[in-house]
Amino acid sequence: MRPFVYERPTSVSVAIAMASHVDARHVAPTQANTQFIAGGTNLADYMKLGVAQPERLLDLNNLAEPALRQIRVTDDTIRFGALVRMGEAADNNDVRHRCPLLADSLKFAASGQLRNMASLAGNVLQRTRCEYFRETSWPCNKRDPGSGCAAMEGVNRQHAVLGTSDACIATYHGDFAQALIALDAVVEVEGRHGPRKIPFARLHRLPGDTPDIETDLAADEVIVAIDVPLEAWSRRSRYLKIRDRESYAFALASAAVALDMDGDTVRQARIALGGVATVPWRARAAEAALQGKVMEEDVAEKAADAAFADAKPREHNAFKVPLGKRTLVRALIETRDMKV
Ligand SMILES: Cc1cc2nc3c(=O)[nH]c(=O)nc-3n(C[C@H](O)[C@H](O)[C@H](O)COP(=O)(O)OP(=O)(O)OC[C@H]3O[C@@H](n4cnc5c(N)ncnc54)[C@H](O)[C@@H]3O)c2cc1C
Ligand code: SF4
Repeated sequence: MRPFVYERPTSVSVAIAMASHVDARHVAPTQANTQFIAGGTNLADYMKLGVAQPERLLDLNNLAEPALRQIRVTDDTIRFGALVRMGEAADNNDVRHRCPLLADSLKFAASGQLRNMASLAGNVLQRTRCEYFRETSWPCNKRDPGSGCAAMEGVNRQHAVLGTSDACIATYHGDFAQALIALDAVVEVEGRHGPRKIPFARLHRLPGDTPDIETDLAADEVIVAIDVPLEAWSRRSRYLKIRDRESYAFALASAAVALDMDGDTVRQARIALGGVATVPWRARAAEAALQGKVMEEDVAEKAADAAFADAKPREHNAFKVPLGKRTLVRALIETRDMKV
């Protein structure tokens, strides 16, 4: 690991001022000289591997604002402070009761130790686990723009089938983000130019020609909170995660589902898919296919077909298309059958 300077700002405004160096305007947060660190479970990993090379780390854990560590549940919103730990949010009874999808997406992620360490903001900003990205001797457009993509013709079993580009097919591996995008969450950010709200669906960028630019954030912007509106579909919601082993593994395919039902008929559906796409993936075609329909297995299957209509499998990951469809069908039927 390269040497770096480590500092602990005491408030959000101080952190922003310390990060507002000249490069903050011109480079993505993951390439800036000064970077924020929260739980460190993602960034420290990539620093050790030589993938991330910040010269200066600003540890957010000393920020004084109490709201950064609080979960506030009201009649119509759940508000998560950015520094709330994954484990705390997963175990929060109000969160579980009002929106099981949120709690489950966190509970089925990583391990107990990691969930105790990792923050919610850090979780949504975690970087891909693509093996060629993690090993610096391989060409990788995300790590080293213009160098190529070793995964295209390499071992791409865990790679994405949705949202891919000719430059990058890396999967976005996080679970919580699938719940957030399905539920129309909003990310609250503070930066040099003041606060702004980003719909969660616009936080992550598709790889396109610039897979190195992963989010809409500037390098001196701090996520302070994530707001999740509570709607008619929040209680009837669940997260189904399919992986190589039962715990401590990333999703091969997952489905975040929330349903507003009138008897067996779907008034509205909210659906996101994990493990199969380059960014948190809202399945709007599947949602539209369900609206106004009686939720039976064949209807769920048609929605799953719609969700994967644009899939582009590679040599080793074609199995993700049928697996992703079966995961979504099962999640839809199990969500329909929930007692709420
Ligand atoms: C073995 C292993 C298994 C895992 N399995 C899963 C899994 O199954 N599902 C899953 O979802 N995740 C999984 N993870 C990923 C883990 O959840 C993330 O590493 C963790 O959530 C990152 O949070 P952190 O607070 O440690 O982030 P950090 O490492 O501190 O930061 C991550 C990124 O976020 C930025 N950042 C952090 N906070 C802020 C902020 N407030 N504002 C702006 N930028 C910020 C940092 O600059 C950095 O770029 C796994 C990780 C490991 C090591
Ligand atoms: S898939 Fe993306 S992250 Fe992986 S090697 Fe290719 S460019 Fe890099």
